[in-house]
Amino acid sequence: MSNHLYDTLIAAHAGTAKTFLKRDGAADLSFDAFLGLAARLAHALVAQGLTPGDRVVVQAAKSVEMVALYAATVQAGGVFLPLNTAYTRDEVAYFVGDAEPRIVVADGASEAELAGIAGGVGATLLTLNADGSGSLTADLAARPARFDTVARGPGDLAGLLYTSGTTGRSKGAMLSHENLASNARTLVQHWRITEDDTLIHALPIFHTHGLFVALNTTLAAGATVHFMPAFDLDAIIAALPRATLLMGVPTFYTRLLGDARLTRELTAGMRLFISGSAPLLAETHVAFTARTGHHILERYGMTETNMITSNPYAGERRPGTVGQPLPGVEVRLTEAETGAEVARDAVGMIEVRGPNVFQGYWQMPDKTAAELRDNGFFITGDLGQVSADGYLSIVGRAKDLIITGGFNVYPKEIEDVLNEIAGVTESAVFGVPHADFGEAIIAAVVPDPAATLDPEALSQAVEEKLARFKHPRRYEIIEELPRNTMGKVQKTALRERFKAG
Ligand code: AMP
Repeated sequence: MSNHLYDTLIAAHAGTAKTFLKRDGAADLSFDAFLGLAARLAHALVAQGLTPGDRVVVQAAKSVEMVALYAATVQAGGVFLPLNTAYTRDEVAYFVGDAEPRIVVADGASEAELAGIAGGVGATLLTLNADGSGSLTADLAARPARFDTVARGPGDLAGLLYTSGTTGRSKGAMLSHENLASNARTLVQHWRITEDDTLIHALPIFHTHGLFVALNTTLAAGATVHFMPAFDLDAIIAALPRATLLMGVPTFYTRLLGDARLTRELTAGMRLFISGSAPLLAETHVAFTARTGHHILERYGMTETNMITSNPYAGERRPGTVGQPLPGVEVRLTEAETGAEVARDAVGMIEVRGPNVFQGYWQMPDKTAAELRDNGFFITGDLGQVSADGYLSIVGRAKDLIITGGFNVYPKEIEDVLNEIAGVTESAVFGVPHADFGEAIIAAVVPDPAATLDPEALSQAVEEKLARFKHPRRYEIIEELPRNTMGKVQKTALRERFKAG
């Protein structure tokens, strides 16, 4: 039976003895064994009453069984809904109540806590522990290793991923089989991923980056995945000589650079380093090249759209930019109020259209209508600027735009100036409420480990470069910027912390 995503990514690997998932301290899993595990899990899901279109919520530690559960859900015609392991009971209650899944899979330790939540929507609660044990997998050996794949077309849903929802309620992005399949095909071609590749996988798999970008591409290409439970510097350093590909968030690269074992020799066999999910400082890009000879390839995407732009494989990978639109993906920059395209070189709202763009927000027609235009363009909420030769730079989130005394100030412009100052590792600029100006600009600055920063000197350096209305009113020297698991700086937390004073 034809199942669009399963056929694109997985079906062709039946009978393949080559290793798909390789782990430190555990047996390798061949493609064939992975397909068998997925098929057994698909039987388990159907035995629990899963019917096509049903959601499967999973809040569990990263494991090969969880990867197979993703494949199983797709094969059985379900919709995979992974949740951040950091979510609290109340947050999970919201997601389960909103998505109304048939099945909830959670770590055994949360079983008692989640039983009522799952029961409340008539869902079955199954357990899956970090070591693969649990009620989900308990009777797998007795189940057949082949499963009659449930028919699903390109427009049917395969994934429901909730956005991080820094403002207001988190929204469920509905991703179709073709949204995911088209992006996987495009990225495999663009990044030239083949069955000869070995990807170091140290990202979480509840997020689009580790789940769809990393796993869908390697599955589609038949590549091997060195599967790690989490980011561990020693494990990655040990794995680099036997790998060809790394996908990471920018903090992976800053942490690697902080280790003297990262050298040209160590990375000689690597083909490609990819970064995304948060801005990679140009400085990190340049330092990484100086140390290893490799140019990190930065790309840009989001939960709702999969990947949108990428620096080129063969051409110039320009530091501080996210490259050009991927083949088949259209990007335009617009004015927020009118929706008209902005002039060349101007900053505008990034809008995107293509087969990668999601189907709308789950049970939120108003939010969908507000962000997805009738002509198919999705309003990303990110502000960008395109160079004369077509490289897109992300200027920041529209909601982080500071309006002070009636002037628009883009935090990134000030952050770029601060980051250039000797002794500065990184910075985050944000607005806090101000009685006269509406918002006042605050700069939080992280010094290099050995440096002592003087706010007065920072202020002077900024005054030399930027117009008066862009000068921060205060400089806060802090040890590190608050970040979430995907490496994104949490400006809301900074605003909260520094709003007084
Ligand atoms: P998420 O939906 O969690 O993947 O978050 C998507 C958001 O991450 C985007 O809307 C951007 O604001 C940000 N983002 C992703 N990749 C990049 C990048 N390469 N540079 C800057 N911001 C990025």
